[in-house]
Order: sequence, then C-alpha cells, then structure tokens
Amino acid sequence: MASPFKFPVHGPDGQLLFIGIAMLDTARHDNLEAMQKSLENLQHTNQELQKNLVELSRLASTDKLTGAWNRRRLEETLANEMERLKRYDHPLSMLILDIDFFKKVNDVHSHHTGDQVLIQLTNVVQSSLRSTDSLTRWGGEEFVVLCPNTTLSTAAMLAERLRERLAKTVFPNVGQVTVSLGVAECMAAETWEDWFKRADAALYRAKACGRNQVQIAPETPQRGGVGENVAANFVRLSWHVAYECGNPVIDDGHRGLFADANQLLGAVLSARPKEEVATLVDKLVSDVLAHFKQEEAIISAAGYPGSAEHAAIHQTLVDKAVVLVRHFHAGTLAIGELFQFLAHDVVARHMLGADREFFGYLQSRSEPVTASLVSSLKA
Ligand code: GH3
Ligand code: MG
Ligand code: MG
Repeated sequence: MASPFKFPVHGPDGQLLFIGIAMLDTARHDNLEAMQKSLENLQHTNQELQKNLVELSRLASTDKLTGAWNRRRLEETLANEMERLKRYDHPLSMLILDIDFFKKVNDVHSHHTGDQVLIQLTNVVQSSLRSTDSLTRWGGEEFVVLCPNTTLSTAAMLAERLRERLAKTVFPNVGQVTVSLGVAECMAAETWEDWFKRADAALYRAKACGRNQVQIAPETPQRGGVGENVAANFVRLSWHVAYECGNPVIDDGHRGLFADANQLLGAVLSARPKEEVATLVDKLVSDVLAHFKQEEAIISAAGYPGSAEHAAIHQTLVDKAVVLVRHFHAGTLAIGELFQFLAHDVVARHMLGADREFFGYLQSRSEPVTASLVSSLKA
C-alpha cells in the first residue's frame, strides 16, 4: 500500500527550501521515517556539541572565580593588537590594577570574603569599560586592562575614573577597598615584556607613593595635542609624609597646592571647557600667593636665616606666573606649558627643592613659634 511521505529539502546553508511529498509504499515509508528521526537526533547532538565547545573555549579563556579573561586569552588578543599598532599606528594602552593591602582583607575577614571582593571589583571595572577594552585577571589581586585605540591621556583618565569609582564602592562586610594603578602606552618597537615592565614600574611607584593613586610610565612617547603632552610629562603629584616639614600651616598649604594641581590636571585631561580650566588656574595661582605669604611669615618668625632669600625666590616665581597666566587668558599660551610651570616648577620642584632647606630648621626649634603663629594667622 502507498502512503504520502513529507520530506524537507534544505539549501546549502541549512535553510528550508520546500517540503516535498512522495507517495511511498509502507515499508519504504517506515524506513525513511526512521532515517529522518535519527538525522534529527544527530542534528540535535551536533548542536549540543557545538554549545559545549563554545562553553569549553569560554572556560579555557576566563578566570574561574571572577569571569574576567585569563592570561591565555589576553596573550591571544595581544598579538593582534600589537600588530595593528605597528601596521596602522593605532595607539594601544594598558593599565595594571592592584588592590591595596588585600592580604589584610583576607586576614581580617576571610578568604571567602576576599573572593567576594575580587568578584565585585571585577563587575565594577567591567561595567566601566568600553566594549573594546578587556579585563584580565593577571594573578591574585592584580588585573590588566587592555585598551585598544587608546592614547596615554585617555587611559590615564580611565585609570583615574576606575580608582575613584572603586574607592567609592562599598564592599559588603569589608567597606572600602582602594586600588593602585600603573598606566603605559605601547611604543611602536616595544615588546610586550618591556611594555608590561614600564606599566608595572608605574604601579610600583603608585604603591611606594602611598597607594590609592594612578601613576603613568614616564617614558611613554608624546603624541600631538595639548592634553597628550601634559599627560606625557605628568607624574601625578602624590602627597607623601616625607614632604611634611612638621609645621601644620605650611604642610596644609603644600597639601592643598598638590590637590589644586591635580584638580587642574584632571580638568585638562578630561577636556573640560576653557572657562572651567581658567577658574582652576586662577585658584591654583591665588592659593600659591596665599601660601607663599604664610610660609614667609612663619620662616621669618622662626628665625630662619635664609628667609629673605626664600621670599625673593617666591617673588621670582610669582612674577613669572603672573606673566604666563596673562598669556594663557589672552589665548597666547597653551595650558600644557602653563601647567608645567605651575604644577612642576612652582608646586612640586620648589616645595621639594628650596623649601626643604628650612624644613630641618622649623622642626628643631619651631614648636612654640608655630603654635602662636597658627593662631595669629587664623585670627
Ligand atoms: P599591596 O598594597 O602592597 O598590594 O599589598 P597586598 O596585601 O595587596 O599584597 P600582597 O602581595 O602582600 O598580598 C596579596 C594577597 O592576595 C595575598 C593572597 O592571599 C591574596 N590572594 C591572592 N589570590 C587570591 C584569591 O583568589 N582569593 C583571595 N581571597 N585572596 C587572594
Ligand atoms: Mg595588592
Ligand atoms: Mg617656599
């Protein structure tokens, strides 16, 4: 007896082209139906296998605890990205992020709580990255962010944003956790090892300077553009206890100037409007003036023999600052040059150079003088 048999006809890509109908005798019909069934089963098994393969390759390329990429995956991507840099001169930057005092988190809470911190930190970082950036767990509590098509200044901004965001994150049972970051842009002829070494050295500096901060590998090549030049010349001004002279007014002043300079740099790097940058320039300059006056009063009251000479150094710096700021406001001086002078020459170099000459003098004999001066200056 003959009965109708429906059979699907697929195209080369597996798409259904049409359903054919044939009249077959019962024996052939049953045979074909059984074949059809086993074909369907095979297709199903094949799909399962494909899924398993995808999952296996995902597992082989990610870190088990956090789900971030593992080293193997990073190394596979690196070859391509570094090739692109060499061939098309696409910028390529890297951040190394390390949790501060993570051992304490494990010791004070538990290894399990430490694991939870690693997972939450991974989520926070991943949600702050562009889709082209990748996060790799390099080992323990150290992560690498690879940023294709990203210059040093943009990577520095990203690092600062990550640092800030993580410092504000509340980790259950632990509270606040901070991170230190080193940033480096890959140079055209550089190997991965040398590039990593530079980023790692910047991270080391961030740790040594007090943690919870970003440091940039200084040797990174400069590209065009004001922000880029500033970033390339910039080593974030990080406060260190060794910078303190022991006098609270002078130390507060110096700390405040560091903060002013860093705020100005942040505005320049994030391309804030010119008026905003100009306001921060004016604030830095007026804080420098106020601080110089206070410092001159204190060192002269303490009997520092070089106080007149020191005041003259201040005057020279102020005179130059006034001229440069005037040019900046008139649009004839780029912010990069002005920043270099204000942040490096006036704030960092002067404070860590000329100012150190009176530090010992103040520490050894200034206690009573300082106390009375603080109250008179505050009055
Ligand atoms: P620093 O600020 O100098 O980086 O100090 P640190 O304590 O973070 O650095 P250190 O290298 O002394 O300690 C790292 C700690 O990270 C020690 C180790 O037990 C912990 N750690 C590494 N991998 C894991 C992990 O998978 N889970 C947990 N919970 N802890 C881990
Ligand atoms: Mg650490
Ligand atoms: Mg001074």
